[in-house]
Amino acid sequence: MSAVAPPVPVMATGRRRPSGYVRWSLWVLLIALVASLLVTLVWLAGRYEASQVQTKLERDTADALGDIRGALTRNVQSLQALQAGQPSPAVWSARASQLLHEHREWIRLEWRDSALGTVAFMETPYRSPPFARLGRANAHADVALACANGRRVSGPAYSSSYFLPQLDGLGLEVMELCLPQVSAGQLTGYVVATYSLSEILAGLVGPQLMRSQEVSFTEADGTRLALHGTARRGNRVFSSQQLLDLPGNTMVLRMDSWRGAPDLFPNVLTALVTAMSIALVSVLVLLGKDTRRRLRAEQDLADALAFRKAMEDSLVTGLRARDLEGRITYVNPAFCAMVGFSPDELLGHTTLAPYWPPELADEYQKRQEVRLSGHNAPPREGFESVFMRKDGSRFPVLIIEAPLINHYGVQTGWMSAFLDLSEQRRVEELSRASQERLQATARLATVGEMASLLSHELNQPLAAISSYATGSINLLQPQAGAPAAALALPDIEVAMRRIAEQAERAGKVIKSVHDFVRRRDKEREPVTPQELLDAIMPLVSLQARKLGVRVETRLKSGLPAVLCDRTMVEQVLLNLARNAMQAMDQVQVRDPSLVIEVKRAVPVGEATPGKAWLEFSVADVGPGIPPEIQRQLFTPFFTTKAEGMGLGLSMCRTVVEQHGGFLGFEANRPQGTIFMFTLPVDPHNNDSP
Ligand code: ADP
Repeated sequence: MSAVAPPVPVMATGRRRPSGYVRWSLWVLLIALVASLLVTLVWLAGRYEASQVQTKLERDTADALGDIRGALTRNVQSLQALQAGQPSPAVWSARASQLLHEHREWIRLEWRDSALGTVAFMETPYRSPPFARLGRANAHADVALACANGRRVSGPAYSSSYFLPQLDGLGLEVMELCLPQVSAGQLTGYVVATYSLSEILAGLVGPQLMRSQEVSFTEADGTRLALHGTARRGNRVFSSQQLLDLPGNTMVLRMDSWRGAPDLFPNVLTALVTAMSIALVSVLVLLGKDTRRRLRAEQDLADALAFRKAMEDSLVTGLRARDLEGRITYVNPAFCAMVGFSPDELLGHTTLAPYWPPELADEYQKRQEVRLSGHNAPPREGFESVFMRKDGSRFPVLIIEAPLINHYGVQTGWMSAFLDLSEQRRVEELSRASQERLQATARLATVGEMASLLSHELNQPLAAISSYATGSINLLQPQAGAPAAALALPDIEVAMRRIAEQAERAGKVIKSVHDFVRRRDKEREPVTPQELLDAIMPLVSLQARKLGVRVETRLKSGLPAVLCDRTMVEQVLLNLARNAMQAMDQVQVRDPSLVIEVKRAVPVGEATPGKAWLEFSVADVGPGIPPEIQRQLFTPFFTTKAEGMGLGLSMCRTVVEQHGGFLGFEANRPQGTIFMFTLPVDPHNNDSP
């Protein structure tokens, strides 16, 4: 019987286990108890057997007594029949002889007259004349006493027994029966019968009663008078006595029975069977209890298993266990759903798991070997990998691995959890696309805002072109008396050159807006700071001129090119410059000025070795930025302007960070704000680090 239930932990404050000595004494006590139980059982069985024998003996004695009484009564009737019809002594003698033949217990029958004188007598034919040695006269006193008794009770009466020696030297115990004869109220005589006690026992007691026991008559003091039966000897004597109460004589009928030593074996057997039955019942009870406990434990286990299975099935995380040889020993439904293989297709695979993309199988195998060798613990935060579904499609997963430790503390394998990253990647992609759309929207907003400026600014070159054209036409008109064209040719040429210049300028303005708005893929290219400034300056100056702002650019000579998405960085610079000019315009600064500066960035903190940066800054002398606005500055759609969109700064930061740079701001002294950002220097173009 093995218990399934987990061992109950020993309480710290609880009882201590019994010491060896106590345990041994408990065992000794138990054995002693069992032994005494067995002895008691044997003893009880013996006693029971003895009492059975005794009871049977008592019953036999009573039966024997009944037999004797019955026979004596019948004998009295026979004696009465002897006297029937007042027979002559000869007839009487014939009848008596007949009776003596039939009844061996009588040794002599007498007919006596009323004065006890013998009328006739007859002696048993089975032995020599019994009174030959002693003479009948010697028994007269006994006969007289019995007959006196008989007369008194008007019925048969017995004398006490007495010993009658025989001629052969032996003797026998006899007693007299006297039966008074009464006719018409007058005593007419007596019939006297002499009984041999031993013949009473031999003849009147049923032979079956004496087969295995000895029966005897004794006196009250135990003196044995007559004996009959088989005198066997044994270890144990059982005896039973009952009184034979006759009129005039009382004797004790005693029966002795001998038993051999009681058979120990059957009793031990009985005791053993009893003990084994008790043990069997106890074992059955214990078994029942144990079965109940086991059923309960099994139920608990089944519940725990069902709970675990429900938990594993509802997990969205894929789970896989491998043994120390790298064989897959367990996969949960989420893992199967992830890779599209059934558990049967996965379990037992050692090398080349079916979900490894063939092109990466070598690399994965190496990784697995390293893992199984135990030299390299897996990163706690997990690592990314690519798996292949059954349909051949690849998908990214995050794998978190941990050693599988059994309850002996021994590592039996590895447990891995898998997260399908496809959805996460899709969301990232979506957010990137929407970010780009946001940037495009911001660009369009800027362009829309600038459209009015453009129209204003384009008016200038267009007006100039128009007036130069009108002037030229006038010069070409023939004047009176002079060949006009010849005179005006130099002027016309100047006018035409001016027209060309203005048209070119208008074209540049339009192109810069076009370039700015045209969405391009993010291409990183080396661009010098000068080129960047040149690209934005026409648009910046356009607004600056309108708002009366003085624009200054500070550019150290020999600055290296930066590696960037040109259009986006130009947009950042434009946004910062525009914000600065608008801020100064809002509070009507007296001498508004805008400084755009580019210099090498001073490496701070953990600068990446081998990587140089340029810092671009746009400084204004505007109102500065109050702290409550500072906190929300980069939040999309945060703006303090009626017509603003609040996208400029958030987009600038995104663009700069996409380049690996940093965008920030600080207060300008004595007033205003400086926005600055960094961009990485093109490593191939970094001549003067
Ligand atoms: P928008 O220009 O459309 O308002 P931005 O994101 O470019 O959106 O700017 C957000 C806000 O930041 C502006 O509304 C303004 O209040 C503040 N701001 C930006 N640049 C400056 C600056 N140079 N000086 C003062 N305030 C500024």
